[in-house]
Amino acid sequence: MHFASGIVRPPFEAGCEFLQVTSGCSHNSCRFCTFYKDARFAVSDLEEVKGDIDELSKSPWHHYNRIWLQGADAFALPYDRLMKIAEAIYEKLPWVKSIGAFARATNFRNKSTRELEMLADAGYSRLTVGIETGDDELLAWMNKGYDADFALEQMEKVNDAGLTWVGQFLNGLGGYGYGDESAIATAEFYNKVPPMLIYTASLTLFKDTPLYGEVLSDTFREATEIERLEELKVLIDRLGCETEIRCEHVSMPVKLAGRLPEDKERLISILDRGIVANADGELERYRKSIVGL
Ligand code: SF4
Repeated sequence: MHFASGIVRPPFEAGCEFLQVTSGCSHNSCRFCTFYKDARFAVSDLEEVKGDIDELSKSPWHHYNRIWLQGADAFALPYDRLMKIAEAIYEKLPWVKSIGAFARATNFRNKSTRELEMLADAGYSRLTVGIETGDDELLAWMNKGYDADFALEQMEKVNDAGLTWVGQFLNGLGGYGYGDESAIATAEFYNKVPPMLIYTASLTLFKDTPLYGEVLSDTFREATEIERLEELKVLIDRLGCETEIRCEHVSMPVKLAGRLPEDKERLISILDRGIVANADGELERYRKSIVGL
């Protein structure tokens, strides 16, 4: 099997088999990101991908029924290539039922609604999309490479096509005093284009990110831990769509999961208890103890 870097996938995709189809990130410029800094974006040769699928078909281990396409935004691949990969997977691994991948909102720009429908029919599902926030000022500052209107247009197309996706929310991204703005704009965003799941992680800076340099130069002040929990409360309170929310990532000191709108009060009360029970310093120590994501 060919792997240009370690496996990067959301925790809920741990049961997948992994197949590298791209390496690095087609954007690779977000100010907070630690991933893929050493890997230039590259598309794997189709014959190499088919060779890896062949290798998987000869393995006695068929413990999975889903393939995770490895790469920061494997959906950067054009429609034709994604279809050829799906065909090769089902031909050699007939027990596979679905295919997942990370995607950026920009990955949908060059795919029509009809093409996205065909990809959904081919088993692509639960794509994980790093929306991070719906706040335009923050998207620009963090150099995400698009604004909320652009992302909305793309994710509307994805929803219209029936292609399921998970939206990532990055708690604390706006830094000190900016939680409410980010939460309100993000809730507005997801209310317009509900994903099947909102998956929350919390900003955890490592030394090799531009944003860490801004902390050192006092141009960015991190949100306090209690502020982050308050931000999450605002997000959950403002969400009016039907979806699931999970805050179970290692970067989240207070874990919760539930369905919206029915679990709203329960989730907010978990956060309230977290705010009362945890001194900010204890939560900060938890964050400082995180050595990798
Ligand atoms: S956050 Fe995602 S899109 Fe941004 S640089 Fe990192 S991997 Fe690429």
